[in-house]
Amino acid sequence: MSIWLWPVFTVSLGITFSTTLYFYPLPWLILLTGIVVSVGLFIVLWRYQQQLNHLNEYVDEQTESLQQHINALEHANQELERQNDRDYLTGLYNRRAFTKRLDITLAKSRRLSFRLAVLFLDLTGFKHINNTLGYAAGDVLLQQTGQHLQAVCQDDIDQIARLGGDKFVMLFRANTDESAIWRANALFDLFTHTPLQVEERVVPLKLSLGITLANTNENAETLIKRAEIAVLQAKQKSGNAYAIVQDSEKPQDTDRLALENELQQVLEEHPEQIRVFFQPKRHIHKDIFGNPETLVRWAHPQRGFISPGAFIPLAEETGLIVKLGELVLQKACEEAVAWNNPLHVAVNFSPRQFMEPDIVERVATILQETGLPPQRLIMEITESMVMPESNDKLEQFVEMGIQLSIDDFGTGYSNLKSLQKSLISELKIDRSFVLDMVHNPQALALVEGILCLAHKLKLRVVAEGVENIEQVSLLRKIKCDYIQGFIFCKPMPSERFARLKFVNRAG
Ligand code: C2E
Ligand code: CA
Ligand code: CA
Repeated sequence: MSIWLWPVFTVSLGITFSTTLYFYPLPWLILLTGIVVSVGLFIVLWRYQQQLNHLNEYVDEQTESLQQHINALEHANQELERQNDRDYLTGLYNRRAFTKRLDITLAKSRRLSFRLAVLFLDLTGFKHINNTLGYAAGDVLLQQTGQHLQAVCQDDIDQIARLGGDKFVMLFRANTDESAIWRANALFDLFTHTPLQVEERVVPLKLSLGITLANTNENAETLIKRAEIAVLQAKQKSGNAYAIVQDSEKPQDTDRLALENELQQVLEEHPEQIRVFFQPKRHIHKDIFGNPETLVRWAHPQRGFISPGAFIPLAEETGLIVKLGELVLQKACEEAVAWNNPLHVAVNFSPRQFMEPDIVERVATILQETGLPPQRLIMEITESMVMPESNDKLEQFVEMGIQLSIDDFGTGYSNLKSLQKSLISELKIDRSFVLDMVHNPQALALVEGILCLAHKLKLRVVAEGVENIEQVSLLRKIKCDYIQGFIFCKPMPSERFARLKFVNRAG
């Protein structure tokens, strides 16, 4: 409609309305009343709707603040639980937490057929030190003892606690008395080479160790009690001493023998039961999967997947590790050759494998047969293998182009000189440090020290067993290069690993 027609239209409409209202007032009054009532109703409803909106916003705000309160409460609860689990002085577990963990680990050991030992440590003469040097000095000694115990931990089965006073306990995997004694000797060595000190003054304390091995269906309390009986026997002896107390029944021995026989048979007749899983490392700043570590699994037809912790120690004790190690290397190389991405693949090697005089030739043959270039292999070895006796072999591997990585760095006795010879490319910080550094400043200092040393020597550093964001941010802050752990990826079969996107060649 053109613009000048509007006033004409409005005026005609007005005249029509007024005329109709004049002649027929009643219907129009009803209509007007209806309109007024409707407008009124609309206003009431609109106001009501607005109030409802305000109420909704208020409820949302309250829910959010309630959620924040719940989160804070949960956090506080977790912290309280953590503190409840810890000994205030050493940061180690207390008796309650240790007993709980020991019971859980005992159940696991029954499921996976490995054996556990409990070691009870007592510092003979400690009371005298407390009385003469004072409680502050005593506290320092107890903290050092806790650190020494942590330093001999080897894997995630190992647990330590302070039961009170100068009494500590340690849980670890040991299939035989000999392997438990080996751990006791490692402690004696450590306390001898790094004696307890207060203000740079050596404090000569006698170390008494009581050891006991777990039998089927025993519980935590029984084991701790028996280890305590053993420590009393050790205290009767002079100097640093240990004593082993055993329960007469040893039903797990037959279990062990059965597993040993089975493993031998599997290696000869059913190598397909030995599977290799891969766990990638990740660059600390880049959100991409990197080079993987090979981790062996035994796909047992009756028991399901058996983890290496349950059969590697057995294979090491019996020498079966030589054959098993070669099988794992062969499988890892075959898988790696088939990947689209030319990643480096890390394989674990045991000290026992290095005792084979022709280990270098054996590895070279496997690489040749599978077609994996030596430059794509990373050998994960332990600190004990970086010794002058194995230097020749290590040098030959490096000459071939293989990279050497020191596994569980910080738990053994490193021959730092061999790091200097630039044979090593990578250090893997043991999970126990990663676990402790968040709440233990000494462990954090150690990790920072390792990083500083490694970077000065131009070595890559991988932190193992990273499980939470707190650990990741701390590792970022102290400039660790790579992380490996459940937070980011669990070990997985090759098919799944090969499907991972964003794999790059870093590290
Ligand atoms: P390792 O070489 O230190 O391997 C790392 C272990 O830590 C693996 O356990 C891995 O699954 C586990 N792990 C990785 N990330 C996390 C984490 O965030 N949290 C926790 N709690 N654990 C994590 P796995 O596969 O049970 O292997 C245990 C050990 O068995 C290995 O320790 C290694 O010493 C030995 N092993 C495994 N495969 C082989 C092998 O082929 N040959 C030899 N000689 N030893 C092997
Ligand atoms: Ca390893
Ligand atoms: Ca390791």
